[in-house]
Amino acid sequence: MTYLGAHLSSSGGFYKMGKAALAIGANTFQCFVRNPRGAKAKTINPADLGKLRELMAEHQFGPIVAHAPYIMNPCSKDEGIRALAAEMMAGDLALMEYLPGNYYNFHPGSHVGQGVEAGCRQIADMLNAVVKPEQQTMVLLETMAGKGSEIGGRFEELRIILDMAQCQDRLGVCLDTCHVSDGGYDIAGDLDGVLEDFDRAVGLSRLKAIHINDSMNPLGARKDRHALIGQGTIGTEAILRVITHPALRGLPFVLETPTDDKGHGEEIAMLRRLLGEA
Ligand code: FE
Ligand code: FE
Ligand code: ZN
Repeated sequence: MTYLGAHLSSSGGFYKMGKAALAIGANTFQCFVRNPRGAKAKTINPADLGKLRELMAEHQFGPIVAHAPYIMNPCSKDEGIRALAAEMMAGDLALMEYLPGNYYNFHPGSHVGQGVEAGCRQIADMLNAVVKPEQQTMVLLETMAGKGSEIGGRFEELRIILDMAQCQDRLGVCLDTCHVSDGGYDIAGDLDGVLEDFDRAVGLSRLKAIHINDSMNPLGARKDRHALIGQGTIGTEAILRVITHPALRGLPFVLETPTDDKGHGEEIAMLRRLLGEA
């Protein structure tokens, strides 16, 4: 069965999130491991995390994705903000060690006028300070829409960061369909071409997770406004081509569409129907 899930809006413990995922027909999910807009870390509850591990094994979950807080900017001009980004990531990764074999996804950040090269250097510096060779979590850089001074709107930018990073085997990429379309990659019209571009720039073996979102804006808009599947410029057919592409087989596909858990459940049901899995 395809690993399909959503970014859960429910919180109140990890086991509860696993149950919420099951309730919407998901066999993977994404969540924040701390308040997405604040810096405050959750206290680690090993028993709760252990129960989620068991639930995931029992129900054959694919890898899940923890999402870094939005306020994290490892290539800020402000040294204090960069230090905070490193501190948040280190704390989140410490928690993730209780869920071995899963992913931690983050937005590379905005260089705010420092330039792509300087920004990439700062992001790589953070990864080199925080990612440990022995850790059991793979850290994923997310492809971005290229809004403002965002890094990651071009696959080549991710490659620059990866090339400067140590712990290569602990790093990967998460591709967001809305972001790449907004970034100018024609995922709706030429999926094979986009995957070839990705392979050339980064390498398909580094692609570990997919965010499946439709987009409110046309190709190349550089906006980053997600739409419900089938209600944007990408469309259901193109999203299905992503989910069923042989090069992407076995990856977790996670919805970040603008709805709640119940709405995500309806999208998952629709996709499973179209995939012939329900
Ligand atoms: Fe994201
Ligand atoms: Fe995303
Ligand atoms: Zn987005």
